[in-house]
Amino acid sequence: MVCRECGAEVGPEHVDGAKRLARCPGCGAFIRVSRERLKLMEGTGGVVTRVTPPSCPLCEDRGFLLLELQKDDHRYTYVFKCVCERGREEKRAWPQLPARLAAHLLEKRSKEIDLGDVPGF
Ligand SMILES: [Zn+2]
Ligand SMILES: [Zn+2]
Repeated sequence: MVCRECGAEVGPEHVDGAKRLARCPGCGAFIRVSRERLKLMEGTGGVVTRVTPPSCPLCEDRGFLLLELQKDDHRYTYVFKCVCERGREEKRAWPQLPARLAAHLLEKRSKEIDLGDVPGF
């Protein structure tokens, strides 16, 4: 199947059969897989039954994270490269998540952030 988020091809190797959940190899989005589709994919061979949990709680190993912030009447989505290993491998021209903001997000485990730490906001 094709990820509706980024258009990447999601194959059987990206599906966690036990959870009926697929992970897009392109953008990291989770995709719910129906019983019927799972059966079809299992018929082709290799649905994995176990997926290791993400090692980065900030970006869930996507290498980037999105922060939605409202400025006046408008909501903007800011994209940052994560501070983790995947983020360092990210080649796209996004700003690096400021270390202070990363620490803050990790500590608070919430979306409540200090806007002073968001570049350009
Ligand atoms: Zn995707
Ligand atoms: Zn990360």
